[in-house]
Amino acid sequence: MTFRLTIDEPRWHAAIRRAAAQSPGLVPVIKGNGYGFGRERLAELCGRLGVDTVAVGTEAEIPSVRLGFHGTIAVMAPLGTADLNPEPRPTQVLRTVAHASVVRHLAGLGAAGPAVVLELDSPVHRHGVTLSELAELAAPLRQVRLAGVAMHLPSGGDRRRVLESVHLALDALGRAGIPLSTFWVSHLTPPELALVRAAHPGVQVRPRIGTSLWLGDRQAFRASGTVLDVRRMPHRQAVGYRQRRFAGGTLLVVSGGTAHGVGLYASAAHSGLRDVLKGAVLGAARGAGWAPSPFHWAGHRLHFADVAHMQVSMLAVPPHLSAPAVGDRLDCDIRMTVSTFDAVELRPGVSEPEASWPAAS
Ligand SMILES: *Cc1c(COP(=O)(O)O)cnc(C)c1O
Repeated sequence: MTFRLTIDEPRWHAAIRRAAAQSPGLVPVIKGNGYGFGRERLAELCGRLGVDTVAVGTEAEIPSVRLGFHGTIAVMAPLGTADLNPEPRPTQVLRTVAHASVVRHLAGLGAAGPAVVLELDSPVHRHGVTLSELAELAAPLRQVRLAGVAMHLPSGGDRRRVLESVHLALDALGRAGIPLSTFWVSHLTPPELALVRAAHPGVQVRPRIGTSLWLGDRQAFRASGTVLDVRRMPHRQAVGYRQRRFAGGTLLVVSGGTAHGVGLYASAAHSGLRDVLKGAVLGAARGAGWAPSPFHWAGHRLHFADVAHMQVSMLAVPPHLSAPAVGDRLDCDIRMTVSTFDAVELRPGVSEPEASWPAAS
């Protein structure tokens, strides 16, 4: 009953090392589900990569990353005033401050406060102090353990404008008299980073990178579900929770369901849980035909025969295809950042065609 991630570890490591070599000052990002690989695994890898700092999304992610990584951990979620209690703080942790009121609060704590990175507003407009607030923050910032300035930039959009927002922000810091030693930045390409470095010599630029570091070589890993049951079904047999009529052929039950991230069709525009659930239902019920599933067999994308269940999917193999056997594995296209696996298997050569997959014993 295993939904499995198989990693060609030498190939995956080589891709990560190549990406790291192209990104001087790299700060690997480890957050959420660890990009499908798990946070602990990525943390341990960062130790071996020799980076001095990694970034996590939230404070809650610190302990899992600390298990494998002994350098500095930067938390990208901004501090609220409620987070500034005097409890003992984890050591070697950088916090983010993105609100003027919190900067003033930190100034009151002085050297007892945490080391922080000041996040500036960017074209993303998620968090960040605005450039017009900088002048009034210069004095309080002198009382704060400031470890640099950060910007979280869009990954798309008009790149000239994105770069212009960086130059404007760094110039505004200078005018406000806020010293800038380290600039922590997200979503600039290597050529864009080079432009920023050239325009602001003396500033250490540190790119925070997740996706292109961990998921850069898609051939280095693959997800697969195991065939659990293979059932010949008569034409027009009602099947599944929704009792839809089966078109004939073979019904497969395969490991991999909504709990693994399979069968969720949330679009970028639909982010609420209700939309995710609605999307999952729509996924199997759309139109007269059955929705394509992320599973493949013999070079064909198989269709769902029902909504994805929590841990399995019911799939249809059309009559003209020979069906797999119990224990065979079906490749699954998934979004790594929303996927959870029952098992991770390390072995070379994962990008071979599925015909070479051994049946599970
Ligand atoms: C998630 C995140 C990143 C990493 O983004 P990728 O697209 O995975 O490289 C960088 N910076 C911030 C602030 C983030 O939240």
